[in-house]
Amino acid sequence: MSIAENVAIIKNNIAEAAIAAGRKPEDITLVAATKMNDAERVRQAVKAGIDVCGENRVQEMLEKNEQGAYAGCPLHFIGHLQKNKVKYVVGLADLIQSVDSLELISVIDKEAKKKNICQDILLEVNIGAEESKSGFSPLEIPSILSEISTYSQLNVRGLMAIPPICVNPRENRPYFEQMMQLFVDNSGKKYDNVRMDFLSMGMSGDYSEAIACGANMVRVGSAIFGARIYK
Ligand SMILES: *Cc1c(COP(=O)(O)O)cnc(C)c1O
Repeated sequence: MSIAENVAIIKNNIAEAAIAAGRKPEDITLVAATKMNDAERVRQAVKAGIDVCGENRVQEMLEKNEQGAYAGCPLHFIGHLQKNKVKYVVGLADLIQSVDSLELISVIDKEAKKKNICQDILLEVNIGAEESKSGFSPLEIPSILSEISTYSQLNVRGLMAIPPICVNPRENRPYFEQMMQLFVDNSGKKYDNVRMDFLSMGMSGDYSEAIACGANMVRVGSAIFGARIYK
């Protein structure tokens, strides 16, 4: 299957899941998780109609950006971001989805101030309370939002989660449901720089489940590009 064929199938599945959930297909943003795929393959995905390119690694993003991989497509950063690499990402990524600590928030704000821009971010939630994953606990989110309201160069646009990988996509449902509840519970907050626009969850194996539970942004990699070969 070609990248274009895969994107067409996924967009169709997304539309079906959205309609089944009483929402509009165009309200769901398809982020292609492009890690380990070269500029040419990323361009093919862009041409096939993905909404956003999502990169995990700073170095890889900079190289592909040089090669014009993302032309005409928004770019999101979705991987773990080290503080010393923030300067490369702020201003280049339209949205940093994987903001997972208060220290990182503060460094991003400083860098955005230096560049005289406002950086959009999502807060990453460690919804499975996994040792191996970074992210805020659900209970922390209200106080983090209140803290962020004191930073002038950041806009919070929503929440992101990577639930525990389950064999059966249905097994992640309780996590998706908890994320939706958290999203709704924190949507009424009246901070100038907090707008709960995006709930980013669901990957190749479970994006339809995630949409059923309320996701409006899904991050899909291997279902578009094929299995990644880790070297
Ligand atoms: C790789 C990746 C995805 C996509 O994973 P697939 O299972 O290949 O669809 C989604 N989110 C993040 C943060 C990723 O790193």
